[in-house]
Amino acid sequence: MIVGKFGGGAMASSSTIKDVMKMIKRDPERKIIVVSAPGRRPGIDNDTKVTDLLIKCGQDRNKPGKCKKTASEIVRRYEEIACGLGVNPELTDRCRDDLRERIDSKESNTAKYMDKLKAFGEEYSARLLAAALDVGGVPAKFVSPAEAGMTVTDNFGDTELDPASYKRIGAKLSKPKKVIVFPGFYGMTKDGAAATFARGGSDITGAILAAAVGAKIYENFTDVPGIFCTAPDLLIGVKPRKIHRLSFDELRELSYSGFNVFHHEAMLPVMELDRPVPIHVRDYRLPKTRGTLIVGGRKYMKGKIIGIAAEKGFISYTITKRLMNRELGFGRRLFQIIEDKGISYEHSPSGIDSISVIIKKDDDFTTALKKELGDAMEKQLGGCVKIEDNLAMLAIVGLGMKESVGIAARAFGAIADAGVNIEMISQGASELSIFIGVKEKDTRKAVTALYNRLVRSTPRTPYLS
Ligand code: ASP
Repeated sequence: MIVGKFGGGAMASSSTIKDVMKMIKRDPERKIIVVSAPGRRPGIDNDTKVTDLLIKCGQDRNKPGKCKKTASEIVRRYEEIACGLGVNPELTDRCRDDLRERIDSKESNTAKYMDKLKAFGEEYSARLLAAALDVGGVPAKFVSPAEAGMTVTDNFGDTELDPASYKRIGAKLSKPKKVIVFPGFYGMTKDGAAATFARGGSDITGAILAAAVGAKIYENFTDVPGIFCTAPDLLIGVKPRKIHRLSFDELRELSYSGFNVFHHEAMLPVMELDRPVPIHVRDYRLPKTRGTLIVGGRKYMKGKIIGIAAEKGFISYTITKRLMNRELGFGRRLFQIIEDKGISYEHSPSGIDSISVIIKKDDDFTTALKKELGDAMEKQLGGCVKIEDNLAMLAIVGLGMKESVGIAARAFGAIADAGVNIEMISQGASELSIFIGVKEKDTRKAVTALYNRLVRSTPRTPYLS
């Protein structure tokens, strides 16, 4: 059996959904279908995803006029889809009433209220597709997370699955008589409230179902032909090659931008199984074109990398103190300071008398917090603290890196030849990756230099074409 997940682009309008239905019909093994809420419609400039409209609605909860206007826009999106697919209009009446009810609910917990609204997007996307498949002669059925026993924690907006759910979902969905259409992005808490995963979380739902039923493959349909070895917009004057096959571990290391075609946390349910379920990221419009296969392992080729990712918005704190290496508990105290501020860190390269901590700044990382953190380190650890802000991190990833001589030398040489200064280097302990910190303004220059030296100037391989 195949579990297929169709993203927001594929579910955007009645015409894109017609392509989705064709794809489902092509293979009778596509028995479990997970969907996102309608995304941006092709050809409409500045179009808004339904999930963003729902969030806007929730934020304007106390401004009835604004909220009502956005709600009408949402309902119109579903009406257009239903009408284009010839679905019974009763469903859109239900959709309108349900949205009204959710908006008017008196829920005082804001995150819980927002999730009730956000879950609406995927729920009606799934209800509509199930109805349209049925009308189109493919027996199909909407199944909700509650019916499937998909229980999640009450950490609204960033929920996690209760692992006991796998068994229940497996029992409920393993032998479907009809095509099951399942809403992505949310599950049900023990108290029956909808709780959503992080943004892009329908990928996680697909992986959970694929793991629960032991699918032969998890097809992740999107609106690009697969995963590129670097994000096209990070390259100056060249186009990236497409990856044909990479391992789960490689994609985890590449979780910076350019690789968010697939939610990197979504691999966890399928990669840790005794028989991991391969994930095929592919274009919903191209039934004959191979996309990118993510698998448990692959043969590696010496000297070849699989991808280069990059992301801006990092800051580094470097603490220098003589004889640091002999000071018992120094590292523990440093990381305690960071933990006490509720921050997690990304990298920590060190020398004999110095250690750096690289942090990804989020919206809560204020200027005040930036200073507080530096002051706390200086006061509690002694030594001298140097802060470097506005850094970008580049990740060079490839399975063979450990055994290959010279990748690092070629990478550093390429960056130097491009006239970019390297601010930090860190090699992952698995030796699957090298991370390089540069100034944000140099990101594209550095990525292009790396791409040209490590990929473009090397022959194509079965993994990277
Ligand atoms: N609709 C949700 C979002 O836009 C979840 C998803 O599409 O995966 O984040």
